[in-house]
Amino acid sequence: MPGSTDRPDTARLVDRHGRTATDLRVSLTDRCNLRCTYCMPEQGLDWLPKPAVLTDEELVRLIDVAVTRLGVTDVRFTGGEPLLRPRLEDVLAAVAALEPRPRMSMTTNGITLAARARGLAAAGLDRVNVSLDTLVPARFAELTRRDRLDDVLAGLAAAVDAGLAPVKVNSVLMRGVNDDEAVPLLRFCVERGYQLRFIEQMPLDPQHGWDRDRMVTAEEILAALGEAFELTPEPGERGGAPAERWLVAGGPATVGVIASVTRPFCAACDRTRLTADGQLRNCLFSRSETDLRAALRSGASDEELADLWRGNAWAKAAGHGIDSDGFHQPDRPMSAIGG
Ligand code: SAM
Ligand code: SF4
Repeated sequence: MPGSTDRPDTARLVDRHGRTATDLRVSLTDRCNLRCTYCMPEQGLDWLPKPAVLTDEELVRLIDVAVTRLGVTDVRFTGGEPLLRPRLEDVLAAVAALEPRPRMSMTTNGITLAARARGLAAAGLDRVNVSLDTLVPARFAELTRRDRLDDVLAGLAAAVDAGLAPVKVNSVLMRGVNDDEAVPLLRFCVERGYQLRFIEQMPLDPQHGWDRDRMVTAEEILAALGEAFELTPEPGERGGAPAERWLVAGGPATVGVIASVTRPFCAACDRTRLTADGQLRNCLFSRSETDLRAALRSGASDEELADLWRGNAWAKAAGHGIDSDGFHQPDRPMSAIGG
């Protein structure tokens, strides 16, 4: 890895900007059973061929390396749609058996969660984030190209029943599509005890249709919420958490805004990412990857894999540079990186 010679002698995933990665995002698959318009075209994408995807054994081995050699404490499973991964519960159980046991969460569209929530919790999953951009059935069908809103709502309720708490809801607002739903979404979540987080739309769509001027900003979202709710900044340290959080009506309910574009939190980023085909990325917006799958399949030892990972972390850029002139959207769309 170029530039790795000045890397300090530490086992952890440090970079040259003073950050340490402890939060691993693992994409379990690039496939999905929804087709959210901002994420995928109607016909889907060119899915990874099966041999390219890490096997369960390969996946668990890499997570083991991250947890036992590199100081990763949190593992978030995502995709694509992570619930489409065959034998998911076995993977979760194997990760839950690692020492020290990492905290495990999952980001899902929730449409098959109702039937799975208990089994996921029994396998060791601690929490879920469920993506929900609208509460209007016809809009949901248009936005995701599938008429499945009721299934998501049932999935959310089942997650609470299964103890996958706190249940978080992720919403992306889009101008002229669902930007009138900030208040209804927050009311819905507060009433049910879900923690809502709005995410600014990022330039990660395969269609390259993102337009900064059309993006609904954190400022606009907060202004809309402020019309209906009393919001006060949540006291305490934010740490590496991407969401700025506010107490709703004095608490305990909260709402978060992940302003990746207008208020980037790169300086506090503690993430490292592994794609379903075994490529390491130190940022959603990386233009390069480290091929752990090739190393693993050609017989690398755990310590050699760990060292490749450290080199990848060390090369992390200071920020994503969305606002800089030289910004190029990465080749992989969000669904193939793991959002
Ligand atoms: N399929 C799962 C889901 O939808 O939760 C997990 C993967 S999805 C890519 C993860 C999250 O990324 C979702 O909350 C989705 O709304 C969000 N997302 C997708 N494309 C995005 C974009 N361009 N900007 C911001 N968030 C995006
Ligand atoms: Fe699938 Fe999630 Fe992308 Fe929607 S946002 S198409 S659910 S991967």
